[in-house]
Amino acid sequence: MSARTAVFSPWQTACAWADSLAVSCTGAAVWHERRAHRLAELLEHAAKHSRVYRERIQAAGGRADAWTTLQRMQPVRKRELMHRFDEWVTDPALRLPALRAFVRDRDRRGDAFLDRYVVWESSGSSGEPALFVQDVRALAAADALEATRGPIALPGAGLPSSLPELWSAAAWTPQRIALVAALDGHFASVVAFERQRRLNPWLGARGRSFSFLQPIAQLVAQLNDFAPTVLATYPSMAWVLSEQQRAGRLRIEPRALWTGGETLTPALRRALSDRFHAPLHDSYGASECFFIANECRCGRLHLNADWVILEPVDERGRSVPPGQAGATTLLTNLANHVQPIIRYDLGDQVRFVTAACACGSHLPVIEVQGRADDVLTLRDHSGHDVHLAPLALTTVLEDEGGVFDFQLRQRGPQALELEMFDVDAAAHAEGACRALRSFLREQGLASTRVQCHCDTTPAARGRSGKRQRVICQAHAGEHAVATKAVSARVAPRARRAKPAARAARATA
Ligand SMILES: [Zn+2]
Repeated sequence: MSARTAVFSPWQTACAWADSLAVSCTGAAVWHERRAHRLAELLEHAAKHSRVYRERIQAAGGRADAWTTLQRMQPVRKRELMHRFDEWVTDPALRLPALRAFVRDRDRRGDAFLDRYVVWESSGSSGEPALFVQDVRALAAADALEATRGPIALPGAGLPSSLPELWSAAAWTPQRIALVAALDGHFASVVAFERQRRLNPWLGARGRSFSFLQPIAQLVAQLNDFAPTVLATYPSMAWVLSEQQRAGRLRIEPRALWTGGETLTPALRRALSDRFHAPLHDSYGASECFFIANECRCGRLHLNADWVILEPVDERGRSVPPGQAGATTLLTNLANHVQPIIRYDLGDQVRFVTAACACGSHLPVIEVQGRADDVLTLRDHSGHDVHLAPLALTTVLEDEGGVFDFQLRQRGPQALELEMFDVDAAAHAEGACRALRSFLREQGLASTRVQCHCDTTPAARGRSGKRQRVICQAHAGEHAVATKAVSARVAPRARRAKPAARAARATA
């Protein structure tokens, strides 16, 4: 298999696809059985090949009962796992320096690493850059779940609703899928998109990705030119684009909106659907596990419980009862054996909904809460509003500025305040401010004043990744209030794709 070939096993994917359909159509006992079987397999593999997990499994009292062992295992966090990368992964051929070099080469997005793995990067919201390796089994599960429970499986989107239909429809349905995300890095959404383009010739011709960090007028022109029938992006970016649509600058007629990566409020969902006159389908995934939950026809998120375990826990790591959200959530990805994710502290707040869903699915319904970040509405020199998605701003500050624990507050229509809390914030402060100003200039906001300062006292830092990072404060003016009124307040989750900001620098 050459590096340019997408990592793909037709047999494993077909099996996972058939199994996923079977689980979707049957009762809860079936997904419980699949979960138990896959968990036992994962723990056995991890105990044998991953020192990090061997220690935890032994400390939890062995592997006699997989579920009990899991419940007793100490949670893992990204920082420790990345620090012990070689002892985490189960293939000794995977070495961090080679992986880092691989993801530095932008042209290799979606390529196979060591001829058998797909790799993506994520700095996430807690400031710990990480690399995630997907084996063919994990990709087969992801592909199967996307095909059977993702937006293309839902009625009403004007899209084929089964894999055979997908293939036959491809010949005559002029679907054009636009992914609006960060392109300049090996981020999960763009890597997955590139991989699908290689696997599916129809998508290669019909799918295009667009950088959300370029000046908005340029992005709008590109989208008008492409005229997508499906717009796939973050909810906050969809809202920024919907403002352009409302103003008549963006003139697209998507048949469906696909969102993910941020919490979508009911009000924002309605606003987006109304403005684009299209149904919206949301999903929940993370770099650590691409396929956590998919939305059903009733608009509820169903956990893919046959492949994923989520455990909401309180501040002390104790399980919280169904119906309550924990302080954080522990994730176990049952599909990935090469880089096991077992009781991984995801940082999101998840609540299991106890009432059954009207769609009839037996897969558990979850609700995801997170920090609330705001869309900022700044005023340019000619008095026009410019909307900025919080993910674009945090991306610039993380990837260009090198700061991760910060708060960006809008103090007025043309005033921002950036406070940085990282231990090494002082070393990065100047670069972070420069990156932010450069980004604002590209968006036509050169007149925006930016005040930057650091507060690295332990009291100020708090728990990294938990603070609200982009805030539109009330006295920022009527525009900000109007923005909040449509609930364009979004909460970053463990993201599908960590957008990159290098594109911003290139044009600075
Ligand atoms: Zn449902």
